[in-house]
Amino acid sequence: MQYVSTRGGGEPRRFSDILLEGLAPDGGLFLPQRYPRADLPGWRAAWQQGGYPALATAVLSEFIDDIPIDDLARLCRDTYTEATYRDARIAPLSPLGEDMYLLGLSNGPTLAFKDMAMQLLGALFEYELARRNSHLNILGATSGDTGSAAEYAMRGRTGVQVFMLSPDGRMSAFQQAQMFSLDDPNIHNIAIRGVFDDCQDLVKGISADLRFKRAHHIGTVNSINWARVVAQVVYYVAGWVQATDSDDQQVTFAVPTGNFGNILAGHIARQMGLPVKRLVLATNENNVLDEFFRTGTYRPRPAKETHATSSPSMDISRASNFERFVADLLGRDADALRQLFDEVRTHGSFAVDAEQLARCRDEFGFISGTSTHADRVATIARVDAEYGRVIDPHTADAVYVAADHVDEGVPMIVLETALPVKFAETIHEALGREPEMPDDYRGLEDLPRHVDVLDNDLDALRAYIEERT
Ligand SMILES: *Cc1c(COP(=O)(O)O)cnc(C)c1O
Repeated sequence: MQYVSTRGGGEPRRFSDILLEGLAPDGGLFLPQRYPRADLPGWRAAWQQGGYPALATAVLSEFIDDIPIDDLARLCRDTYTEATYRDARIAPLSPLGEDMYLLGLSNGPTLAFKDMAMQLLGALFEYELARRNSHLNILGATSGDTGSAAEYAMRGRTGVQVFMLSPDGRMSAFQQAQMFSLDDPNIHNIAIRGVFDDCQDLVKGISADLRFKRAHHIGTVNSINWARVVAQVVYYVAGWVQATDSDDQQVTFAVPTGNFGNILAGHIARQMGLPVKRLVLATNENNVLDEFFRTGTYRPRPAKETHATSSPSMDISRASNFERFVADLLGRDADALRQLFDEVRTHGSFAVDAEQLARCRDEFGFISGTSTHADRVATIARVDAEYGRVIDPHTADAVYVAADHVDEGVPMIVLETALPVKFAETIHEALGREPEMPDDYRGLEDLPRHVDVLDNDLDALRAYIEERT
């Protein structure tokens, strides 16, 4: 299996060579030269015999041929445990009325779906760095979810340190408690006197300093990392296996979408041959992607046009993984793709023609919709009243949009991307009561905090990293 850039530059590379990287050197994103074929009977058997770890090994080995299969199986077994995910099925499917289901992806340590892939990434990084006798210092900026998922994935791992910047005093109390209570010596929480954009600018500043970056082995774990995408393919298969009893049975997935990372994995599963009727893409008020799938125009927004909503992890202005889907839509024509993204740079948007737009729906199965704050609050209240289940605002986005697209007899699987406890304010608005706190999270806010506060100053950050690497 070889990987190439969406923009056509560079030589094909193996999985282990792109594992530790972000963008391809030509500014594109890595994709496999072609998608492997689904092995539906084999996958069903793997799930039945060995549960999620066996299924993950079967699916991932289609994409990873430069890690011995026994090693890969061990990494999957060590990662997808009941102890970490608090459910032996790891991604449990549960019914939500007629023909609708929730696929639980938020039972990992940070209570959001990013743990599903990030935990495996931690294991893969540790494995590959040991194999190369090397080490890595992960630098990132977070306003909440991604940073904590990365820290919980990398804590205690050999060969990896994490330097995570966050805006001082601006994360939710729960998010701060989650990150700052970690006392592992390889995790460094750095609160910057500034806002999230300042944190991001500091990361960019360090990344632009190639000499420093190389000397200190600086890397990232952002959402365009290919290993994260491919790890997510596994739970689409797990959802399908649990919802069907024969290999020709179709399902539909509904996905609360921000950066297009999660639903991209669904697209890949479908391209491999998983029987997926439709992929329902749900956005909040930041509906860049709903606009594309309705009109064919992709128009990323400037930061000041990005709304702060009650499903904050979907508050994006540009969808960093979207380019991978566009590459497939264009039949992997790298010149045509470069042209489109040049147009975004020069004119702020691109448009595909009517025939290409129709193919998004007819050939690739995409349909889309948008929810508002009021829709989410009403959906949380309705699902609680009708099914006695409390869902978080991101999941509510998808349940709301999915309700318009249920085909009788085709299981509609909604991806649950976070637990409600993370968004207590909106839950309180919808239900008039506080969400339940999982037992092992009680008292988290009272633990000692491990965080260093730094000025918004590149030299100060450089010195901080230098001292610790
Ligand atoms: C990150 C996130 C999303 C959006 O996922 P993308 O891969 O960016 O589309 C949705 N819900 C929650 C809770 C998230 O943390």
